[in-house]
Amino acid sequence: MALHKGAGDDRRLSIGPFTGIADPLGAMQLAPPLHRLGPGPVAADTAYQLVHDELLLDGNARLNLATFVTTSMEAQATRLMTECLDKNMIDKDEYPQTAELERRCVSILADLWHAPDPDAAIGCSTTGSSEACMLAGMALKHRWTRRNPDRYRTGARPNLVMGVNVQVCWEKFCTFWEVEPRTAPMSGERFHLDAEQAVALCDENTIGVVGVLGSTFDGSYEPVAEICAALDAFQERTGLDVPVHVDGASGGMVAPFLDPALVWDFRLPRVASINTSGHKYGLVYPGVGWALWRDAEALPEELVFRVNYLGGEMPTFALNFSRPGAQVAAQYYVFLRLGREGFRAVQGACREVAGYLAGEIGKLGCFRLLTHGDQVPVFAFTTTGDVPFDVFDVSRRLRERGWQVPAYTFPPHREDLSVLRVVCRNGFSRDLADLLLADLGRLLPELRRQPVPLKELGVPARSGFHH
Ligand SMILES: *Cc1c(COP(=O)(O)O)cnc(C)c1O
Repeated sequence: MALHKGAGDDRRLSIGPFTGIADPLGAMQLAPPLHRLGPGPVAADTAYQLVHDELLLDGNARLNLATFVTTSMEAQATRLMTECLDKNMIDKDEYPQTAELERRCVSILADLWHAPDPDAAIGCSTTGSSEACMLAGMALKHRWTRRNPDRYRTGARPNLVMGVNVQVCWEKFCTFWEVEPRTAPMSGERFHLDAEQAVALCDENTIGVVGVLGSTFDGSYEPVAEICAALDAFQERTGLDVPVHVDGASGGMVAPFLDPALVWDFRLPRVASINTSGHKYGLVYPGVGWALWRDAEALPEELVFRVNYLGGEMPTFALNFSRPGAQVAAQYYVFLRLGREGFRAVQGACREVAGYLAGEIGKLGCFRLLTHGDQVPVFAFTTTGDVPFDVFDVSRRLRERGWQVPAYTFPPHREDLSVLRVVCRNGFSRDLADLLLADLGRLLPELRRQPVPLKELGVPARSGFHH
């Protein structure tokens, strides 16, 4: 819960002996309140130690198989980010070279995603894919409004077509910008949007279709090319030209290196914009994302604001104003450092570990794999029907050894299905995968001796973070 209610209690921090620098025992008298500003300052080293100690309770990020977000970077990248901590991304005049690195990253991505003219593609960095998706959604809505001024004025409600598996940022977009979400439910063994479902939901008020490259639920790629082809046919039938946005939060940095023949990007004329998270498979610490439009026409000029830049004007499109520049410098570092071959090697290693781990888990005899980690290096699996434990029990027991493997229930119409999901990231080596397998092997006999899933005994199933 990120929205906090004020806490009115008067709990205090306690400072042990030897934490106080100048007066070790005297420092013990200090008891800064937890929820109010203290009356006076605390020595810097004391303050550092207090915050540092408290944060020990945050989990070990390397054992967190729930998150897509980068948890390890090289020492040189960390040094670079430390050097750039004071740079404000919006201050293009003060930090023109950071602005230049951002521009180079946009060109690199435009080329990677086959923009017809990489130098004419338009794009920007963001705090993550969520902000990038908001911007892309706003551009779609604006284009629709401009195409349909009369309909908009007379109260028609614009809608956005997507699968129910989309990440929560798309629900936010629809709520914040008053767009009707038209979501295709899951059905049987189809866990993401397909072309037929997408077209069936489109009408004259559709601002666009979102295709996800790397569904957060199971790591699968949605069939973007098929969706585009179906929309081509739809346009021939109805005259309605519905643009596509590809949410490539994770897959946008995987497919170009591991699946070069897969056509999902600006090679498809219907794809108007693409986003990715620099802090997922872009291999940068949080928070950086990217939004790109295929050309100037795809991004309405009214949405672009200008900031002062070396006495001139620099166009910007963002929800935030001030934002750290360190992540952009780090993104450029990663691009420079790895090149195409390096990216292929890093993402390939992740996919190899994912495939290996999925295969071994499949052999254990009590799990059924939904995906195999052969698209985004992520896979989801569930328990077979004949075991006395469920995915929530497995997740809970793995947690005892420090592993975070989230368990969660699928959305409509597959609420009957609960899964575990593993995200293989750079830094999750085959050795760590073997340790996870060994732990799983050790606890399965115990789980098999359970009478029934603990949920049935009234133990609440803790649903894990899975976005
Ligand atoms: C993670 C994710 C997002 C949100 O990205 P952030 O960078 O965390 O804001 C959006 N869409 C998909 C498909 C994702 O996987």
